[in-house]
Amino acid sequence: MKNHPRCKCHIIPPFVVDELKKAGIDVATQNKTISREFRARRAAQLALRSSEASLVEPPTKTADRFVYDSKTTQNQRLLLVRKEGGAASTDAVVNTVYENAGTIRSYYKDTFNYLSVDNHGADMILNVHYGKAYANAFWDGDEMTFGDGDGQVFINLANALDVTAHELTHGVVQYTAGLNYQGQSGALNEHYADVFGSVIKQVAKKQTAATADWLIGDEIMGPSLRGQALRSMKAPGTAYDNPLMGKDPQPDSMATIYKGSSDNGGVHINSGIPNKVFYLVSIGIETDKAALLWFETLKTLKPTTNFKSFKTALLKQAKKLATAGRVPADTETIAKQSFVAVGL
Ligand SMILES: [Zn+2]
Repeated sequence: MKNHPRCKCHIIPPFVVDELKKAGIDVATQNKTISREFRARRAAQLALRSSEASLVEPPTKTADRFVYDSKTTQNQRLLLVRKEGGAASTDAVVNTVYENAGTIRSYYKDTFNYLSVDNHGADMILNVHYGKAYANAFWDGDEMTFGDGDGQVFINLANALDVTAHELTHGVVQYTAGLNYQGQSGALNEHYADVFGSVIKQVAKKQTAATADWLIGDEIMGPSLRGQALRSMKAPGTAYDNPLMGKDPQPDSMATIYKGSSDNGGVHINSGIPNKVFYLVSIGIETDKAALLWFETLKTLKPTTNFKSFKTALLKQAKKLATAGRVPADTETIAKQSFVAVGL
């Protein structure tokens, strides 16, 4: 059986959490408390679920959605409030995350014939209202969890399609390439999550590469930070600059790559470099064709793939897909030029 390395991947990077703490908004302490308590609770929950699951769940999975309300506690799967085909909730956040998960599931199924995170139709578990004013959302290797935000810097994290698509794509990466969440392979993991976060948002909004804003997380920014975002794929390093979050540290080329050890070796920082490549290729061949090229490449990557080997794998795939007539003939050339533009 293939080993699928898991990550606990948060949408708000640790360096932003640190800046917020300096500005007097203490989400960092809460995060630490959660992650410590979280492990013990989760182990107990999983043990309980696996014995129940073997009795009640049919063997064939159909990627059913289950939305749970954490009721501002730090418990996952606390209260089931909406399930596949069931009645809508009176809670708009529940319905939005349910619809968004459906949009994401349809995108992967209709575009790549890939069902749920594992392509075997695993249940899609979504927890909302997690923690008290918890300003983050995460994929933990098994399910997705969203906080309500503090209401000023970040509003409810379950409301944004790109955030949910980003987190679910961490699941897809886990079950395909299994990119290690450290250094350049970790930055590629983050990159893929941003790519499909943006692509799925563009499809839903009927945008093109030229009309899209290429921002990630712009819809979760609270009133204090309207107009800013967590990342810009078009112009990495320009998504935000404010006293609460500090300044967007993403490089847009290898010349300014982050070499430090924080953020798992800059996984949310150096993802700016391949993000820029994806933007440039999308401008050249259109987003849907670039998405196909990226997805087909993902299936060929290894857990330890770095930026250089990613480039090699992607160019190989570009040639293959162009020969098959699935992407434009000049795709390999455009991709090569795009990598050169970021110093790769
Ligand atoms: Zn992520």
